[in-house]
Amino acid sequence: MLDTALSWKHRATYYTCRQKVQQVQEALMKGKDDLSLCPYCVECTQYTQAQKKVKFICGHGYHLHCINRWFQDHPNSVGSCPVCEGEKSSRGDAPRDEAQTFILHSLHRRFPTIITQECIESWEGCNAELWLTVLKCPRYSSLFSKVFTRE
Ligand SMILES: [Zn+2]
Ligand SMILES: [Zn+2]
Repeated sequence: MLDTALSWKHRATYYTCRQKVQQVQEALMKGKDDLSLCPYCVECTQYTQAQKKVKFICGHGYHLHCINRWFQDHPNSVGSCPVCEGEKSSRGDAPRDEAQTFILHSLHRRFPTIITQECIESWEGCNAELWLTVLKCPRYSSLFSKVFTRE
């Protein structure tokens, strides 16, 4: 019974992730320089009037608490837009889409078991429109064995 509950939770996380990826796709397709998403937490910035927002000259907007957290972790880049000045791809070849790459890393931080490091590497190079078609629910077995040994 415990396993059923965990299996359900695993699938629920997957569906949340899938919805989030879809939301990201839509935002990226609408406009890359004026996203309606906060690239750090991948949540909408438009309908949260209560939360303070920060917008850089480049057009990228963040929640105030998100940008503060980013600056805490990256003290060297305080004052500059994380998407434009932050993590650059390790591969220095063709110019890539910084916003897309940055959001991909944010998705990985939120859903490490679904958007894996391997996903980042293969998704980085392809259009965000394709992400949903390659998104798969990972096997649940590892979770099961972990729970099993604990009991
Ligand atoms: Zn945010
Ligand atoms: Zn920017």
